[in-house]
Amino acid sequence: MYAEAEHERIILWTDASCNYRGIIAIHSTALGTAVGGTRFWNYANDEEASLDALRLSRGMSYKTAMAGLPFGGGKAVIIGDNKTTDREQIFRAHGRFVESLKGRFITAEDIGTTPSDMEYVALETKHVAGLPGGSGDPSPVTARGVFRAMLACAHHRWSTTDLSRRTVALQGCGNTGYNLAKELHQAGANLLVSDIDSQKAARLVHEFDAQAVAPEEIFSTPADILAPCALGGIINDDSIEQLQVEIVVGSANNQLLESRHGDLLHQKGILYAPDYVANVGGVINGCRELLGWDRADAMAKVQELYDTMLDLLNQSHAEGTPPFRKADHVAEQRIQAAREKSDAEKGGHGDAGTSSEG
Ligand code: NAD
Repeated sequence: MYAEAEHERIILWTDASCNYRGIIAIHSTALGTAVGGTRFWNYANDEEASLDALRLSRGMSYKTAMAGLPFGGGKAVIIGDNKTTDREQIFRAHGRFVESLKGRFITAEDIGTTPSDMEYVALETKHVAGLPGGSGDPSPVTARGVFRAMLACAHHRWSTTDLSRRTVALQGCGNTGYNLAKELHQAGANLLVSDIDSQKAARLVHEFDAQAVAPEEIFSTPADILAPCALGGIINDDSIEQLQVEIVVGSANNQLLESRHGDLLHQKGILYAPDYVANVGGVINGCRELLGWDRADAMAKVQELYDTMLDLLNQSHAEGTPPFRKADHVAEQRIQAAREKSDAEKGGHGDAGTSSEG
């Protein structure tokens, strides 16, 4: 499971005045300030919330490391009902928590939080992005990155980036799914789409000549590529049995239910593009706020995902390793090298350690 020692910090913070209970996990600041969204979720208990924060913050570290961005990985979770209307007190308490880390962690919105919640956070700390009028909706940039990663997969598997005779089964027609479908339609791909909200799927049928598929049939429908753009954990024992595709690449975070499912795909000859390599476009978009980039800078950086993914696929193929395992390894090496460099500069006195405070 997740050893806390792998992380620099995991901190619990409470504020009884507004019933606030939050956790921030900082996986690594070796490559730069830790960045990560704030997830507001009704976790069953502190342990479940901590595990989510530990897992997601490590994913952020790997994501930025693989994209060559000057950031480390962190994640914040707030435990509670994200539909609450009493947001100002909660998010101001959260802002004070973020501020207590003195710039080691910068947050933004995530599941259950919105740009206007971040405005309350900003009343207490400047270490927050994703504000209204800031870098804007990240989905088109994320979708462009996934599309570029998909082209790299196509080149690796079929020696062509021409998708005009290929069929893509797309799960989830929300923000990223819609934008990815648009790119794929322009590339001439045939689209099979599913969403539990039939109106969202209908929009893609109407705008991009897609064909709607029932949500429960998206895994068993024959296609060339499966693009998961909904929830995590969808690559599991059940779905792997049904898959009739050659490539899996999409925007969803944590697509593999467990690592062994990535190995199973590899054994079946299905090329799985590691999700955090393909979907880093959201963080790249955030660099407009964090690093002062303009939209053109972000779009240029996201174009690079073609080469990043192709290099990864070529290397893992040469080594006979599943690409997701190779990506983990490369990310870990980059983080470790930066940590050693920083320790050497400080005379060997690194300050990593695990702390917990209430
Ligand atoms: P979204 O909420 O806009 O869209 C998700 C869609 O999936 C919704 O339309 C929902 O109805 C649908 N859905 C849920 N369960 C489904 C199911 N079982 N079958 C079919 N459809 C289902 O979310 P989004 O912003 O497009 O993000 C999608 C995924 O991509 C998430 O996992 C998110 O964490 C990840 N991601 C998003 C971004 C971004 O820029 N938005 C960046 C990185 C990663």
